[in-house]
Amino acid sequence: MDKHNEKNNVLVFVEIDHNEIAEVSLELVCKARELADNLKVDVTALLIGSDRNPDFEQSLINYGTDVVYTVNNPRLIYYETLPYTKIVSGIIESTAPQIVLFGATPLGRDLAPRVASTLKTGLTADCTALQIGDYENRKEKKVYKDILYQIRPAFGGNIIATIVAPDHRPQMATVRDGVMKLNNFQKNRNGQIIPQTVTLSDSDFVCEFVNRTIKPKSINLKNTDVIVAGGAGVESKAKFKLIHDLAQAIGGNVGASRAAIDSGYIGHDHQIGQTGTTVRPKLYIACGISGALQHQAGMEHSNKIIAINTDPYAPIFNIAHYGIVGDLHVIIPMMIKAYKTKN
Ligand code: FAD
Repeated sequence: MDKHNEKNNVLVFVEIDHNEIAEVSLELVCKARELADNLKVDVTALLIGSDRNPDFEQSLINYGTDVVYTVNNPRLIYYETLPYTKIVSGIIESTAPQIVLFGATPLGRDLAPRVASTLKTGLTADCTALQIGDYENRKEKKVYKDILYQIRPAFGGNIIATIVAPDHRPQMATVRDGVMKLNNFQKNRNGQIIPQTVTLSDSDFVCEFVNRTIKPKSINLKNTDVIVAGGAGVESKAKFKLIHDLAQAIGGNVGASRAAIDSGYIGHDHQIGQTGTTVRPKLYIACGISGALQHQAGMEHSNKIIAINTDPYAPIFNIAHYGIVGDLHVIIPMMIKAYKTKN
């Protein structure tokens, strides 16, 4: 069969994080469902490990997976690069998906390039959108149908690039946590679970673990309803207290731009944007943040955005639902006072 006309499934590599399915994997299953419906193919998921929660397979099916491939082996309780690469590459070779998606997590960033290199195919990291469309190679005078558009910021975030891989299969991409929406949940949805047998030998396990501790993030901004975020316009670490005060007054959490973090106003776990956390709160208050594309990439899907900025032409106002042109050091105390008076 001409590889460009293959009509095979969309596969999601499922990551386990602290004995739960990583939320990014469920988000990818939801995205895969959308892509697969467009292509009229199945969604498959690959679950590797040992002594997993028996509900995992049904969870993946409920979010839109048609077939869950499982690999069970007591030696796979923790992620290791070489055996996982061997298993994932082997399953891809035997099931021939046209698209494979990984979370852009530390694990996904280690595994996906290894798999891509083993299979001699391409990989686009940190996609912010995925779509299906046709691609015309004008030089070859050839139209490739139903190609995966792998969309992501490029050149320091100054352009949004659409990357295609028409000549190689599978088309592979990683996507960061929170970028795709978690939807489509359907209780007791029907799907198939197919255990896979994989032969591993001692030579596949060359790592000796010294320490497996992963420091959890100090704050979970992803699942926060209200975020008050401060930028370089706050001016100093001492003045950043105002951002904490507003967040505390209205029951929110504190976010920040990269400039605020680079200036030492607050820790990196609070960064929102392309290289920070992607958030979708009900309310996002951006204080002294210009609204660079890299910042917008992490918060533009917030339900309501309020921006406070002295510069009426700051790009943040292009996406804000409510804009206040003025000095945040004057406005925030007024907001706190007004809120406390009303409540
Ligand atoms: P500035 O751009 O300096 O803006 C400060 C704003 O404060 C200005 O608009 C100013 O008018 C306003 N201001 C000043 N004083 C006051 C005042 N008293 N009251 C009210 N307003 C005031 N950035 C992120 O945020 N997140 C990311 O994940 C991220 N990833 C990046 C990845 C790459 C590869 C690159 C190249 C950049 C990335 N950046 C990221 C950096 C980004 O390009 C911007 O530099 C950064 O977002 C700017 O932060 P800022 O808006 O706080 O600062």
